[in-house]
Amino acid sequence: MLASIDTQVYAFINSEGRLMNNSRKVIDCRDFPNEIGCTLLISGSSKEVFNIALRHAVEEHGHKDTAEIRKLIKIMMKDEAKSKSKLKKVTKKI
Ligand SMILES: [Zn+2]
Repeated sequence: MLASIDTQVYAFINSEGRLMNNSRKVIDCRDFPNEIGCTLLISGSSKEVFNIALRHAVEEHGHKDTAEIRKLIKIMMKDEAKSKSKLKKVTKKI
């Protein structure tokens, strides 16, 4: 049973170790200026990231739930694979 689950998971990863399908999205609060100094990184499916980011923007950043903030969240969403190199740089600095 466990072996078949593993096979399914690895089937989504190509030879470069990148996720093919089901690739996750990320939103990094450090990517846009915010007054509360937030460094949160949200990652998951685009739907999950969007919902959490919208709630987070309203509750923590004090934004209003408007069409504009929803648009901004969609613009901020990036593929997780593309943001990996940036994450490595940050880790080294620490
Ligand atoms: Zn934030």
